[in-house]
Amino acid sequence: MLECEACRGQYEPDQNIQLCECGEPLRLEYFHGDIKEGKRDVWSRYSEFFPFEVDEKLNLGEGNTPLLKAPSISKKLDANLYLKNETVNPTWSFKDRGTVLSLHRALNLGIKNLGTVSTGNMAASVSAYGKRNEIQTIVLVPSNISNKKVEQISTYDPILIKVTGDYGDLYYESLKIGKNEIYFTNSNSPFRIEGYKSIAFEIYEEKFPDYVMIPTSSGGLFRGLTKGFKELKRSGIIDEIPTLISVQAEGCSPVCEAYQSNEKEIKRWSEPDTVARAISNPYPPGGNDVLRKLEEHGGICEKVPDKDILKAQNEIAREGIFCQPSSAVGIAALKNLRRKDKIEEGVDVVSIITGAGIKGEIVLDDERAIFHCGLEDLETCLTRFF
Ligand SMILES: [Zn+2]
Repeated sequence: MLECEACRGQYEPDQNIQLCECGEPLRLEYFHGDIKEGKRDVWSRYSEFFPFEVDEKLNLGEGNTPLLKAPSISKKLDANLYLKNETVNPTWSFKDRGTVLSLHRALNLGIKNLGTVSTGNMAASVSAYGKRNEIQTIVLVPSNISNKKVEQISTYDPILIKVTGDYGDLYYESLKIGKNEIYFTNSNSPFRIEGYKSIAFEIYEEKFPDYVMIPTSSGGLFRGLTKGFKELKRSGIIDEIPTLISVQAEGCSPVCEAYQSNEKEIKRWSEPDTVARAISNPYPPGGNDVLRKLEEHGGICEKVPDKDILKAQNEIAREGIFCQPSSAVGIAALKNLRRKDKIEEGVDVVSIITGAGIKGEIVLDDERAIFHCGLEDLETCLTRFF
């Protein structure tokens, strides 16, 4: 059953619908079950929590990502920090977990074209899964998208269209136009949310934390993690869900703005301006639902300025992971919250590192020294360092 958490509207699962009549994004019913020990593949291990069996032929090996200790940042913050490294997914972001379930959904509905509206990560993901499985993909991107992002996306050979006009409205327009010809799997597609739940299950199995830091733009990742933890609780596997912290960039923070002002609905952000471009949706379709969930679970919404984001990106690189600026917001927020003592010392924290730095956003702000040397002088060159 597809359900709306705003008005409680319900729709049959075979209906090709993603938004409720009230305008809010739908989600599937809550599932409960057991984790199947001994199965490594993420879709088999947690199969009782998914709406259908996932055909492994359609997969690219997504999920099962490492949860890496971050000793250097942990020491500075007097907290035990773990980085959930989603950069190692097949197209280098967590989006792959949602794309594979969306692809199944499209095929189950008998729709032969897969589409998405994206600033980069989801576009690359949808194009890759479509190409591998010989399904036509249609990717709508904002007209000001950087060439580096276009390079990654176009490698997978989708129909790539730069669209001028309001990017926030493009989300809703694509769903209307796609109908039964193109299945648009945008950020808050109910089946995308199902895929993102798997991150919560994996975290639970490795290190159940006190806090989870979640970069938030359209709201899909936050909604997916919440649903995953709630399902573990409903299944009697955990007693309480960890405190979920939604993190936004100061230059585009409609959810934090509304939450901190006790508003029930988000307002459109007039001019997004941040280096964290992958999380700069000015009117997030899942924003109101994130607000409801923050309220329900006593969550925290924290916004961080660009200078803190770039600093955190450097610190994460020193732990061995080159991530997008958008992925660094969790660490920037954690530092603020520890400084303000809103998070106690000694706690266990997981931060989701959503996508790889190599994808082409602005990267690493401090200067790195690079040395030059001829082969014949190499030994002499190296003596300078030892
Ligand atoms: Zn509704």
